Amino acid sequence: MKVFDTAIIGLGPTGATLANLLAMQGLSVLVLERESQIYNLPRAVHFDDEIMRVFQNIGIADELLPLVRVNPGMKFVDSDNNLLLDWPRPQEITPQGWNASYRLHQPDLERLLRKRLESYDNVLVKTGGRVASIDQTGTSVELLAHSVSTDTSEKYRAQYVIGCDGANSQTRTIIQSELDDYGFQERWLVIDLILKKPRPDLGDHSIQFCLPDRPMTYCRGPGKRRRWEITLMDSEDEKYVTKPDHIWSLLRPWITSDEAELERRAVYTFKSQVAREWRRGRIFLAGDAAHVTPPFLGQGMCIGIRDAFNLAWKLGSVINQEADSSLLESYEDERSSHARAYVKMAIKIGKIIHSVKSNNVLTDVSEHQTASGELRSIAPKLGSSSLTATQPDSNTNVEGRPAPQFRIQPGNRLLDDVSGYRHVIISDTRPVGLKDGVFWINPRRQSEASSLLEDLEIAAAWIRPDRYMGAATKSMPELYKRLPKFLKTNEEYGDYNETSIS
Ligand SMILES: Cc1cc2nc3c(=O)[nH]c(=O)nc-3n(C[C@H](O)[C@H](O)[C@H](O)COP(=O)(O)OP(=O)(O)OC[C@H]3O[C@@H](n4cnc5c(N)ncnc54)[C@H](O)[C@@H]3O)c2cc1C
Repeated sequence: MKVFDTAIIGLGPTGATLANLLAMQGLSVLVLERESQIYNLPRAVHFDDEIMRVFQNIGIADELLPLVRVNPGMKFVDSDNNLLLDWPRPQEITPQGWNASYRLHQPDLERLLRKRLESYDNVLVKTGGRVASIDQTGTSVELLAHSVSTDTSEKYRAQYVIGCDGANSQTRTIIQSELDDYGFQERWLVIDLILKKPRPDLGDHSIQFCLPDRPMTYCRGPGKRRRWEITLMDSEDEKYVTKPDHIWSLLRPWITSDEAELERRAVYTFKSQVAREWRRGRIFLAGDAAHVTPPFLGQGMCIGIRDAFNLAWKLGSVINQEADSSLLESYEDERSSHARAYVKMAIKIGKIIHSVKSNNVLTDVSEHQTASGELRSIAPKLGSSSLTATQPDSNTNVEGRPAPQFRIQPGNRLLDDVSGYRHVIISDTRPVGLKDGVFWINPRRQSEASSLLEDLEIAAAWIRPDRYMGAATKSMPELYKRLPKFLKTNEEYGDYNETSIS
């Protein structure tokens, strides 16, 4: 039986992103998806600049751009429409090379990710079969997928398996990972409308209506799409609340059935849970399988896509025998606490939406407010791992955070488009170019790289394939000490001209 390098269970946004990133590295990828169609109930409407950069790396950003909308931000208002809190998003391009915040229609993204996957010969996607069992030995993992339509089962084998099988992950159950529950649990009705006529008065901002009895959210989607999310009372019956008449009665203050068509609706129980273990041997969890969050930050899918970006290059390095398998330990070490930071922040936002009457409504988020009281997006650091151990001489503030994406000359092209999905080292010891799988940038010949080093008060930097800053140091010898063993194979790395900014 063929042994695939990797098998992914679930072709949602996490699985599809991961499959692309693994395929780009030449690995053989099997994807097993239970459903035969893309999930079509209302879900993600937002992603950020860091995530657009992942899509840039995968090669779908150009096709995605016309389908999304730059988001101006979110406003929190009380029942009299007084502004309680403003969360504006910068309209200019951020250091990541993209806009800070985008509105999307999740199925559009999933279609593009799947289309891109079709361009790889090394990917096999099997839909319509549910993975029923997963068994691992010391060297591989065996999977059994059952097709409901044909009532047949097929066996597959892979070196590594990644459960991207969503919130009710069977993979998580199989690896016996418990869930840490942060206590938020609420039922919300989510409604997607398509405008029949223009309604510019609804505005382009998202609005959190912090109504004590029934908090609601309005989101302006791309094109004619508009979203309302409405809290449900315990007593409210799901069948009743999803009836069109009831929905239009709830929406009456804003919009009527003459002005919009009801596209889709669903009732969700928003939860806040993170898996205690993200890995057992050769089996990993990623995306909603590893964490679920209330959607108030618009980050649930984004967290999963960060998981995929973090894990993909590590699996590639280990399977291609560039790094030893201990590298894989850094996945959970880095991602778990990072994901938890977003879940905790989403809960704080949820409290604001509910506790409008309280004087302390904003205390919980005060550390994330600017001097003028505006909310800032959080940017947590990766958890501590064998890769993120810092040295006294480095700029610890930027290490473990997304590295800025500058432009490379000639051609004025974005860094990632030139370097490809690989490690980048900025140092004045080499000309720009690819050497031993690492893309080198010489700041003396690249003015934007030079400005970056100057701004960060460093002389050398290692940017990982997931575009997180691996090390930011005062000198190349310091950087050399910080590089993981698998990047130090070439003796010439020691042949540098030491330059130090003190
Ligand atoms: C109302 C709402 C609003 C949201 N808004 C946002 C937002 O604005 N921004 C954001 O970033 N996130 C948002 N999210 C969260 C986002 O939609 C999810 O985090 C995201 O879809 C998770 O992706 P995933 O690939 O991890 O899991 P899923 O999308 O759930 O995919 C899992 C896949 O695994 C398959 N599967 C399951 N079990 C098996 C099995 N045994 N065998 C084979 N296949 C299997 C399923 O069929 C499914 O296709 C929102 C969610 C909701 C509900």
